[in-house]
Amino acid sequence: MTMDKAYDVVIIGGGPAGLTAGLYATRAGLKTLLIEKGVIGGQIANAELVENYPGFPDGISGFELGQLMHQQAMRYGLETIGAEVVALEPGGKTRLVRTSDGEYVARAVIIAGGSELSKLGIPREERLTGKGVSYCATCDGPLFKDKTVAVVGGGDAAITEALVLAKLCSKIFVIHRRNQLRASRILQERAFAEPRIEFIWDTVVDEIIGDERLEALKTRNVKTGEVSTLNVSAVFIYIGFSPNTGYLKGLVPLDSAGLVITNERMETTTPGIFACGDIRHNSAKQAITAAGDGATAAMATERFVREQG
Ligand code: NAP
Repeated sequence: MTMDKAYDVVIIGGGPAGLTAGLYATRAGLKTLLIEKGVIGGQIANAELVENYPGFPDGISGFELGQLMHQQAMRYGLETIGAEVVALEPGGKTRLVRTSDGEYVARAVIIAGGSELSKLGIPREERLTGKGVSYCATCDGPLFKDKTVAVVGGGDAAITEALVLAKLCSKIFVIHRRNQLRASRILQERAFAEPRIEFIWDTVVDEIIGDERLEALKTRNVKTGEVSTLNVSAVFIYIGFSPNTGYLKGLVPLDSAGLVITNERMETTTPGIFACGDIRHNSAKQAITAAGDGATAAMATERFVREQG
């Protein structure tokens, strides 16, 4: 183990929580490494326009917001690597972080790994991903310009992305398993006013039809049991998130959904291990609350590192 792989703090995850923790930790003078397995910005990097992050009255692209947060933290010395964390081992004075790109030693670890979009788990969903099945309207929407597409889900993500698609596609069916949306009122009002969006209520998708590409969806009305075929060029799936906590089982307390349990200082019950953002039990799952969590976690981490001497 070389000394340059030893840090005061290792942050796992480069979304708003991890990047804000990185900003606060580096400004507190802690040698800090951030490990991100995907894109800097995390889930928010896929958002075409973030309208509810204070300070940007006209909204800001999620990708740009992530990049700006990263630049700000790097200015104070945040180091970043692209790797996946595969194991975390608590120790006495230090903790070992095993990644796909080697091992790192840290006096404290901040888990900010967020969550991944849930899958429907239906036939051909995996095989046709990238061939009509998508989890990112901002990325893949332009491929389906002037086409008919479907969105599955009724939360903020599904409705936000349906509105993004309404600027590109000729028709968007929003398929929701209930007859009432979960999305916030402002998004609902916009979607109901958008003539290109049509809702299919009380309906689930049982199967994706297509061989080389998605051709249609097999849907079922959960109230009547009626089965239908919906011809679309693409389906965009937004049915919530699952936390990235598989490698944490037995190490820190998790709730029944796999989210990390912390106190209000973002401390887990395992000394030197903190958690913040969407991965945390009771998180409001907003970019701004994740950023607030990240600041709180870094401040608690600083206290811990200084007290350990
Ligand atoms: P969410 O709020 O958990 O909504 C998931 C939606 O998918 C719900 O409508 C749910 O139906 C449906 N669903 C879940 N499992 C399903 C299944 N197996 N089959 C069919 N439908 C299923 O998730 P989200 O929309 O991804 O949002 C997550 C968090 O991020 C929220 O806190 C949200 O506020 C935040 N967010 C905010 C914005 C924004 O402010 N613009 C944008 C994106 C996300 P039910 O309603 O019946 O449960």
